[in-house]
Amino acid sequence: MTAQLHAPLHAPLFCDDRRAQATHRPARIPDVPRALGERYDVSGPRYTSYPPVPDWTGGVTADRWATQLRSLAPDAATGERTPLALYVHLPFCVSRCLYCGCNATVTTREEVVEQYLRRLRRELHMLRDAIGARPRISAMHWGGGTPNFLTDRQFDALVAQLDEVVQIDRDTECSIEADPRLVTRAQLRALARLGFHRISYGVQDLDPVVQEAIGRVQPESLVRDAVIMAREEGFSGLNVDLIYGLPHQTPDRFARTLEGVVALGPDRIACFGYAHVPWMRAHQRRIETMALPVSFERLALFRQAVARFVDAGYVWIGLDHFARPDDPLAEAAANGTLRRDFMGYTTRVSSSLLGVGVSSISEVHGWHLQNTAHLGEWQRAIDGGALPVHRGHICSPDDTQRSAAIAHLLCNAALPYALIPGDRAQLRARWHPFIDDGLVVAEADQFRVTTLGRFFLRNLAFTLDAYRDAPGDADGAVLRFSRAV
Ligand code: SF4
Repeated sequence: MTAQLHAPLHAPLFCDDRRAQATHRPARIPDVPRALGERYDVSGPRYTSYPPVPDWTGGVTADRWATQLRSLAPDAATGERTPLALYVHLPFCVSRCLYCGCNATVTTREEVVEQYLRRLRRELHMLRDAIGARPRISAMHWGGGTPNFLTDRQFDALVAQLDEVVQIDRDTECSIEADPRLVTRAQLRALARLGFHRISYGVQDLDPVVQEAIGRVQPESLVRDAVIMAREEGFSGLNVDLIYGLPHQTPDRFARTLEGVVALGPDRIACFGYAHVPWMRAHQRRIETMALPVSFERLALFRQAVARFVDAGYVWIGLDHFARPDDPLAEAAANGTLRRDFMGYTTRVSSSLLGVGVSSISEVHGWHLQNTAHLGEWQRAIDGGALPVHRGHICSPDDTQRSAAIAHLLCNAALPYALIPGDRAQLRARWHPFIDDGLVVAEADQFRVTTLGRFFLRNLAFTLDAYRDAPGDADGAVLRFSRAV
């Protein structure tokens, strides 16, 4: 290996909390008192949509969805097309990781993938026919499953069939999730040639004991080689996904993982909490429950990650992302243009997202939709010529207002009074304990979340959620792993 990993970042320079909020670069990460951590330790959604998927109320049939897609047709007067984001779900994996919460299908049969790609092509054609024109794509993301499970020939075929149906420009932001265990130089070269310039590696933890316990062994040297190869093959954006709360993750072990990740010098790091839901994901029963960090230990691990990454010069983005200061995500956070959608934090400006493939999620002008998550059902729908609609939600004006407030809070760690849904005095009364606990400061025009409060952003968001008492929060937690290959 000849290429260098990224040079170390500068140490953070800012010391004032207000200024830190503007720059998203706190100088010091405070300790989180145990009592506070335990008091606010409740499970709940991560608000990649509002309302969260388990609270969707339905009312979206395949026919109604086709009509809504028509709203993406080019402007009748100017012919101008709204740029869209496209998510392609590729669900296949070579083996099952024990922590997995994704919609994944384990197979070694190439023909299963071939059949899936053929149906994906049909689904794309159905979407284009419903829109009535070839959509322009401003951002495209392939997630899974393990997208780099595909062979180079299959990558080529998928890009060719996408080209038939959508317009992917030279400046379209193309990103892909990848399993470092499957990465080869030829594969990275093929992806770069096809226009991908951002890659997200599922790392989770670098410690061998933790890796053994989660059924995913990938030595640190293998991950390092995958990072170096991606840089050498021209990927300008390199993301690493980590998970805290895994079995046998201790502060010492996690510290070594964090050092290893900092040494890799990724542009972005996501650090998600592990959701242990064996009643929903049977394979998680093989995880040793007694080896899992509990409640406050989980929060302490996350705080450890925040402190290490901020100390290394990364900008803490929203809930659980970190980016180099010169990364577009950090720039968007600094200038107030950061957004949150089904794929997490993003800089993209397109307001509509089309998802294709089993379990994928779409959003078009206030309508949310999820494709069926069952591979057989998805196949039958496509074979029958129907859009594979599973569930949906049509946002009311109240949903739209709350969605904007929650997104602003999770992206900017602040809530302008003008965005408060409902009564400001009522919210202030409800947030009184947060103010007393030092999580929030009431300013002239907004509530500002302190650095300590950043650890409890979701608790603040819960209070803006009109569906909060609805069942199904655990399902929402599982969705967090949609990018964790
Ligand atoms: S965690 Fe990722 S690689 Fe592992 S089984 Fe799930 S989708 Fe596949």
